[in-house]
Amino acid sequence: MPSFEIIKGGAGSGKTRRIVERLADLYRQDPFSAALVLVPTIRHADQFRRRLVQECAIAMNLRVETMTMFARSVTKGSPILSASRATDELARVARRTVARGGDADYFNPIAGMAGFVPMIESAVGSLLEEDIKPGSSQAAAAQTDSALASALASIYAAYVQELEQRRLIHPVQVNSVAASAIRAGADVPGIVMVDGFQRFTAQEIQLLAALSERADMTITFDPEASGRSESDLKRLQEKWPSTHPTQLSPPQDNVADMTKGEAANPEQHAREIARQIKRKLADDPTLRPSDCAVTFRQVTPYLAMMRRIFAEYEIPLDPAAGARLRDTPLGSWLNRLLGVKDNGWRVKDVTAILRSGVVNLNRWNLTGNDLDYIAQTARENNFWSGLEALEGLSGQAPSGFKDALNDVTALHNLMESDDCDSVQILADALYGENGWLQDPRDVDDESAQCIDQLRSYLTEMADSQRDDADDAGDNEQEPFERFRERLDRRLGMPILMRRTPGGVLLAPMHTMHGLRFKHVMVGGLSEGEFPAGRRYGDLLSDAMRQELIDAGLPLPPAPRSTEEELWQSVTSRAEDSTNLWRYRLNASGKEATPAWVFEDDKSDTVNRPDVQEIGESASTRELAIACARGWLNGEFLRPQDSALSDAYSWHAVRRAARAEQTRRSFEFAGEHEGQISGGLVRWRTREGGVWSASSLDSYLTCAFQFFGRYVLRLEELDDEPEEGDAAIRGTIIHTILEKAFEPLVEQEQPLSVETLGDVIHFIDTEGRAMWDRAPEEHAFGQAALWKLEWQRYRDRIIAMLSQQVMGQGSYDGYRVLGTEYEFNEETDTNPPLRIHGKIDRVDETPNNLVVIDYKTGSIPTQRQVRQGKSAQLPLYALALRNHIWAHDKSVITRYAKLPSAGDVRPWALDDAIEEDSEVIDNVVNLLQQSRDAIEAGDFRVNPQAPECPPFCAMRRVCRVNAFSRQKS
Ligand code: SF4
Repeated sequence: MPSFEIIKGGAGSGKTRRIVERLADLYRQDPFSAALVLVPTIRHADQFRRRLVQECAIAMNLRVETMTMFARSVTKGSPILSASRATDELARVARRTVARGGDADYFNPIAGMAGFVPMIESAVGSLLEEDIKPGSSQAAAAQTDSALASALASIYAAYVQELEQRRLIHPVQVNSVAASAIRAGADVPGIVMVDGFQRFTAQEIQLLAALSERADMTITFDPEASGRSESDLKRLQEKWPSTHPTQLSPPQDNVADMTKGEAANPEQHAREIARQIKRKLADDPTLRPSDCAVTFRQVTPYLAMMRRIFAEYEIPLDPAAGARLRDTPLGSWLNRLLGVKDNGWRVKDVTAILRSGVVNLNRWNLTGNDLDYIAQTARENNFWSGLEALEGLSGQAPSGFKDALNDVTALHNLMESDDCDSVQILADALYGENGWLQDPRDVDDESAQCIDQLRSYLTEMADSQRDDADDAGDNEQEPFERFRERLDRRLGMPILMRRTPGGVLLAPMHTMHGLRFKHVMVGGLSEGEFPAGRRYGDLLSDAMRQELIDAGLPLPPAPRSTEEELWQSVTSRAEDSTNLWRYRLNASGKEATPAWVFEDDKSDTVNRPDVQEIGESASTRELAIACARGWLNGEFLRPQDSALSDAYSWHAVRRAARAEQTRRSFEFAGEHEGQISGGLVRWRTREGGVWSASSLDSYLTCAFQFFGRYVLRLEELDDEPEEGDAAIRGTIIHTILEKAFEPLVEQEQPLSVETLGDVIHFIDTEGRAMWDRAPEEHAFGQAALWKLEWQRYRDRIIAMLSQQVMGQGSYDGYRVLGTEYEFNEETDTNPPLRIHGKIDRVDETPNNLVVIDYKTGSIPTQRQVRQGKSAQLPLYALALRNHIWAHDKSVITRYAKLPSAGDVRPWALDDAIEEDSEVIDNVVNLLQQSRDAIEAGDFRVNPQAPECPPFCAMRRVCRVNAFSRQKS
């Protein structure tokens, strides 16, 4: 009778050490002993193998595998579905069951939504893992009186029936199939050890039970790893009732050092983590990269950044997180290709499709230079979007462009036609003879893996579609939308990129359990990221599970660790040191609150590590900065490595290093930050220099912002909006209103109860058409979404105009004088300057000239205007005060805003009111002061708004946004 043992103990109690020692003894006696070690992940397998080989040098017949790998090895040839194929089957069965009505009809309202399938998939997966019989789940659901439980049970029953009828096996059933195979005589080594698991499903316990009948088995288990672990230990003990677990004591003295570090932003903190690892590797020649681990709550958002930074620091990185194909260059390319028609055939999409590194441009005899030329020609000729524009462009482009365009349009026409097999058409285009994609041998490893992965997805989709058609006994083709949905699901599945074995492990927190390292860096310890908010939306929520358990269904608790349990786990993974890291500002420059676990820890915080000394530099960039740093004190240090000094221009490095140092400190940055010699911006300060309301407002908001926008003329590149943004919306609404008021201007009529109807009619017809044309004219995507938004904005425009009609009453002599009125006036400054601008609308009443500026977003408060922090309205009033229109009239300036919740009471600036008149007079002083400061070369960073404006062109350059505002 084989032996069976459970060893239980908390983190760091030596469970793995115990079984490593046992196996080491075995292999010392007989290096050819056959043993199997089952672990949760391949990283656990690597580590286990390494630890064992360190102990006994040779272990010839050892297999260290994940439970799934082992189960698959004994079930070879069984019809086990791949994960994505299983999802396709479930999606089909679920929709069919919902369509048939009955209990599943409960899901009818959401069955067509994108989130429906993942929700069902997760719940059905949990039931399958626990080997729940469909009859039991339906009986338990009936007892709960929950429509949701009954709907889920009916889909589950239909899915299990479908699998049985078609003799298919869901991936999570592989363990019970393997158990049957073992009982039927499959090969099993004489010793089986199971290590590192936090939980066991019913299917896994079946496999372990089958193995324990044929082999001596030891299972290590931490009953405190998560809320679920205790109940799983109970299940193990129920399965092996005569076993008394061996309890290991908690660790006494091997507590790793804990340190804390803060850095400015996510990139900086990732950099500091890399630098710290590099230092540790340099300090300890026996330390290997694989002795270190970096962990975040979620790795995916950091994956690309960590890869880039670790490559710069020349440290091998072994990410345990899978990238999604959709987030890779191939995924973006494919989405662009499949969405090019929906996005209105934008020229930039077509050129981007051809320009991508994954495309084989040779098939169209095109080069990168050709594409540059095509893009330039498109800009010069205002060819933005639409097939007509593209065809016009192909007349002026190299002939290959026409061929490429024909291929793209033909692909779309074919894929979207009713009787075509979209999968096969796409697969043939991409991978057929002279296909569009590069040969995987000609691209880097990662791109090659993505190209192969996409091919296998398409093959699998074609297989699954063929099987469906066979089962249904028809040859009807899948609609294009359904094809895209299936493809999207696959593009969203994590794929494991090729590993760098022996590198620093980069893993999400929940996969760290059971692993040991010398040094562990825990990053992203900011509120919201860790601890993370609870995930909602599980059909099998804790409450639903409990109801079903109470109704007699043998379900264990949800397999989730709490954030506290995760924290316990990651902070007990290190033998020597655990380093906690957080960033002060998130990716949008907003202050990030430290996670409570970070604040609670009493270790000293390393605050924004300074530029390193030469001997401590961890990358060539740091080395350059460290060398140049001493130059400020008269030292002339150079790196020893002559290759490095050749690679850098020392003049540039010296200047860059000095700027970098200043930026890292909070010293006055002088010429590096807006304090330049006087008299360099004469075009604005000399007599006749032209100012607008926005340029004056910009200087008043922040002089450095003005410097970026109006002196250096920097602008965020905005010619590739993915969807209509606030700026585009504002432009369209202004144009609609301008055109809607033109008839009133011509007929000298007011906006009144009588004329409002005509204005609304214009907005509903011409305005609507102008709105709908915007995606094409402004070359942005998501056109359907944009069109959907019309009704909301249309209603707000009408509400704004109705408010105006109701607010102004009616009297003789009122009329709309003009729209888009352009002014250009001289000011009473020294020297005289000119103010220039365009006013949205000017109305006239018997006593007033009313200047109206439309706003689609927020407006400055009356207080801000009175305090001289916003110059637009006073400047407009100043411009019109002496105008012939204003003869004998007071000038009222005001904003007209699209109404929204939380709007403050409308207000206006009226030059007949003394206080307002002073505000208007004062704008001349503001202009004079700004002009004089600019003449003196003063563009220092001095933000006057509570938050930096999102459109500030210096946002990415300005350290104040990133450091000082938070510091103060
Ligand atoms: S980010 Fe803020 S502080 Fe920096 S230049 Fe822009 S407005 Fe000024």
